[in-house]
Amino acid sequence: MTRPAAAPPLDVDVAIIGGGLVGASLAAALAGTGVRLLLVESAPFGRSGQPSFDERTTALGNASRRIFESLGCWSALAPEAAAIRVIHVSEAGRFGFARLDAAEQGIDAFGYVVANRAIGAALWERLRGAPDLTLRVPARAEEVAINAATAELTVAGEGGERQRVTARLLVGADGADSQVRALAGIGARVEDYDQVAVVANVAADRPHRDIAYERFTRGGPLAVLPLHDGSLAVIWARRPREAQELLAMDDAAYLSCLQREFGWRAGRFVGAGRRGSYPLKLTRATTTVATRAVLIGNAAQALHPVAGQGFNLGLRDAAMLAEAVTGAPGDAGSTELLRRFEQWRSRDRSALVRFTDGLVRLFADTRPGAGLLRNLGLLMFDLLPPAKSALARVSAGFGGPAPRLARGLPLKHV
Ligand SMILES: Cc1cc2nc3c(=O)[nH]c(=O)nc-3n(C[C@H](O)[C@H](O)[C@H](O)COP(=O)(O)OP(=O)(O)OC[C@H]3O[C@@H](n4cnc5c(N)ncnc54)[C@H](O)[C@@H]3O)c2cc1C
Repeated sequence: MTRPAAAPPLDVDVAIIGGGLVGASLAAALAGTGVRLLLVESAPFGRSGQPSFDERTTALGNASRRIFESLGCWSALAPEAAAIRVIHVSEAGRFGFARLDAAEQGIDAFGYVVANRAIGAALWERLRGAPDLTLRVPARAEEVAINAATAELTVAGEGGERQRVTARLLVGADGADSQVRALAGIGARVEDYDQVAVVANVAADRPHRDIAYERFTRGGPLAVLPLHDGSLAVIWARRPREAQELLAMDDAAYLSCLQREFGWRAGRFVGAGRRGSYPLKLTRATTTVATRAVLIGNAAQALHPVAGQGFNLGLRDAAMLAEAVTGAPGDAGSTELLRRFEQWRSRDRSALVRFTDGLVRLFADTRPGAGLLRNLGLLMFDLLPPAKSALARVSAGFGGPAPRLARGLPLKHV
């Protein structure tokens, strides 16, 4: 059998490994700015088993909406997006609850729920035919060698074709089990929450009225989000054994279990789509930059989905990295540029990791009195306007400078 001919060597400014939600967003932000780009993705958009653009839905905050507007993707997403205008937070078995209303905060919506596939379609459409962008899909990075001046790698396609690549900057956007992270010699701290998220789309017998619910149940948090076709996205974190039971049930048993734990505030649940499952861990890279390498999105920090913030945070990583690269023409992977990027992103990242992790642990606390405190907390929260507006601001980011793209400003051309 003849081996496929090796493609001629490629020289780029930025090589992005991983074209999921965050990597494809970074490529879309940098495409057309004059930065020479390579995007390597192992599972093409549309293939079953694509781990990023799968059956899930994602709640996008207002900063993410503005970034997608700046990328020219929002017009494709808007018809598929359901606005969240009210957030209702409660705990099973307790009387306290909190209700946040976007109108009271002077905003149109807290965010928008969109199918991951729709986000993938909008991003990949934007990338098709973009100037200075080489797409290698499906392919993987191999034989990575990093030195002070460049990152060298081989891109291996599924059909056996190989290409040597020299990049000024190697970007790990390859998810929580990042290969780039390991190749760059960066460690990760992993904490298992001992929970599995069971997700499904569910139909109810009445309209959702743009309300998103977060309910803390004994086994873990349960989110019910509005969808643009009138149905609901259910994300239910449970202990692994209970999650297995939920997955094994027929639709009627699943719906009655859901109704029991969630109650009737969204009406009667009358139909369920296919269920999927995701083991939940907190994975944090010990650092997010190294010589000629940077980690963004889940490769840098993969969070519990309780607050629906993982992608929003990763998208701000991508927007800020695009800003750092286009703001310093010459060397896209210089130590100075990477230090600046890490500094820009550190507050937002660490505050959101603490917030999300704290929320999971607070509501998992079974010590005597903890439930009562949470109950009072929810009640106080409902009564205290400053606390409400603080949470309403969550979708804008947790600190540090806001990316230009999130402020509707264009990136500079290199
Ligand atoms: C149940 C659930 C619900 C969620 N809901 C929300 C929400 O409402 N809002 C929100 O903001 N976030 C949410 N999240 C978090 C969000 O899904 C993640 O933050 C997001 O997927 C991170 O994107 P990523 O591109 O960094 O990583 P991934 O989605 O893991 O994508 C990584 C990509 O890299 C590719 N890849 C992996 N290895 C290689 C390799 N060696 N070479 C080439 N390519 C490779 C993969 O094929 C994939 O396309 C949720 C998460 C879960 C589990």
